[in-house]
Amino acid sequence: MIRDFNYRKASSLNEALSLLEKHKEDNKIICGGQSLLILMRQALVAPKNLIDIKSVKELSYIDFSPKTGLKIGAATPHRDIEKSPLIKKHYPVLIAMEENLASVQTRNWGTIGGNLAHGDPAGDPGPILIALNATVKIAKLGGERILPLEEFFIDIFETALETEELLQEIQIPVILPKTAVAYEKFNIIKNHQGIVSVAVSITMDDDSIQCKEVRIVLGAAASTPLRAKEAEQMLTGKKINTKLLEEAGKKASEECDPVSDIHATETYRRLLIKALTKKMVRKAWEQAKALN
Ligand SMILES: Cc1cc2nc3c(=O)[nH]c(=O)nc-3n(C[C@H](O)[C@H](O)[C@H](O)COP(=O)(O)OP(=O)(O)OC[C@H]3O[C@@H](n4cnc5c(N)ncnc54)[C@H](O)[C@@H]3O)c2cc1C
Repeated sequence: MIRDFNYRKASSLNEALSLLEKHKEDNKIICGGQSLLILMRQALVAPKNLIDIKSVKELSYIDFSPKTGLKIGAATPHRDIEKSPLIKKHYPVLIAMEENLASVQTRNWGTIGGNLAHGDPAGDPGPILIALNATVKIAKLGGERILPLEEFFIDIFETALETEELLQEIQIPVILPKTAVAYEKFNIIKNHQGIVSVAVSITMDDDSIQCKEVRIVLGAAASTPLRAKEAEQMLTGKKINTKLLEEAGKKASEECDPVSDIHATETYRRLLIKALTKKMVRKAWEQAKALN
């Protein structure tokens, strides 16, 4: 049963930040409520002050500039991202990710910021946004800070946000030339959260022969989205071949730290990480090679 709380609706960013500061001893932001209400119903979270930011228009937007890249307001619903012509043109891999995230109903109401702030290691956007080298803008009354998304996730359901802070914006740089990004989650039921997921970004060298830069990010494979840095290192400066793919997949499966739960055992997750890493590296490599 949901415990009693004081409901406070913010109609502007400044009002939201003032409410967070005023009630910083015991508060919780609610946006779409798609994740928070489940925790509240199970009494795992019982905030005294619930601060609703869903109506804050300043937090819902999608902007793109060829110089600075993409900026998405934290309260932007998943469905707006999925349907954005700007994102389709410049970051098509995000559209594919959103199309497979939950149901249309959940995507209509749930937001990108809520997804990241929830800190679920099985969330879809985290790994792919880290592969895209995203940063987040975090605001509090009278100040803001920018953090690489990679440093935002601290532990399962725990992020770098302080109680008086709000996730304001997700910033994604322009994708470098000769770069391709691939993402896939493995699940049994379509549009459910992934049992594991893998995002890979590969930038080719000037001659499109070797990998100049590789980012491999694993989802649901540890308590936070995880960079498989040793696997990345194995591929950097190399021309991909079957043997290397095999070795990188194996290395990623050794680097991760998955749990056993009702969805899969640790061993099964490691096997999936190996297979999916190989598949995503091959996909990103083939796409990147074909770019001018
Ligand atoms: C049936 C179902 C299926 C789902 N399937 C998937 C899936 O396949 N893949 C996937 O990735 N997710 C999935 N989800 C999770 C869901 O899509 C996201 O967690 C959702 O986007 C959360 O957004 P929200 O606005 O509803 O957040 P809320 O539930 O309102 O908040 C979630 C958390 O984030 C905090 N928060 C929200 N906004 C901010 C902010 N701007 N700043 C700071 N803190 C904030 C809240 O305090 C809370 O702790 C599913 C959810 C449901 C209900």
